[in-house]
Amino acid sequence: MYEELVQLVHGVQAYERARDFIVALRAYLILIFGDMPAVAGIMRIKGPAAVHPCRVCSIPGIRDTSNGKNTSYYTPLHRANNIYEFEDLPIRTHEQFVKQSKWVADGRKKSNAECTRRSRSCGINGTPLLIRLLSLSVPALDFMHILENILPLLGLDEGSEKYQISSTVLAAIGEACSAAGDTIPACFGARVPNIYTVRHFFKAETWILFATLFGFTVLYNRFKKPQYYTHFVKLVGLINVCLQFELTHDDINTLEKGLINWVKGYERCVGSFLLTQ
Ligand SMILES: [Zn+2]
Repeated sequence: MYEELVQLVHGVQAYERARDFIVALRAYLILIFGDMPAVAGIMRIKGPAAVHPCRVCSIPGIRDTSNGKNTSYYTPLHRANNIYEFEDLPIRTHEQFVKQSKWVADGRKKSNAECTRRSRSCGINGTPLLIRLLSLSVPALDFMHILENILPLLGLDEGSEKYQISSTVLAAIGEACSAAGDTIPACFGARVPNIYTVRHFFKAETWILFATLFGFTVLYNRFKKPQYYTHFVKLVGLINVCLQFELTHDDINTLEKGLINWVKGYERCVGSFLLTQ
């Protein structure tokens, strides 16, 4: 595939009849996206289970050590010893990413141990093949996959945490969602499955539909603390702005401030774990 993309960059000559002119037709790959493991593979970064799990910034992750089986890292802004500011995250630039990936690859010439040490320190496994295409920069996060990853995390299962919903209530919500599919026009999107019995059928589209079409109603008065519902509603409001066909500068400012406040609120909701790290 890489050779084919290089051929597209070199392009072909074509005759433009209207101007009686020979032009060069070229095609450049400017964007790639996918779910987190797929992009981690393309970019040769260590991915969501690594100490540096983020492809956009080099923030180190922390792990909930109270649960020995938990191997996932999370990247909260608030830590026991310091606070990361949204406006001042250690963002990975394209040039820095290329430099670090080469530094890791060069480490292998010294020894495998040196390569591993360098790789762990920056969260990159080596130089991605596609980065040699000069038209391509470090992949952005895409809306669909962000929501596909965020929405299932909003604790709907029965559990010990106060923000989780009991299985009885969740079963009723699941039935309501499933039954509503009979009367919702198909133009609204896919049918939302029963979130209690067949949650494994949920995909990005149905998570977004659940949040934006059903969430306001079926989650109202369902949480033990109203603040969790309010917090959820704020997220849905921001999702709805993102779904607009046009965004004004005011909308973008609303999103920027709103998302920062939403994440701060999220960390307050789950704060006890984060603050002990
Ligand atoms: Zn990040």
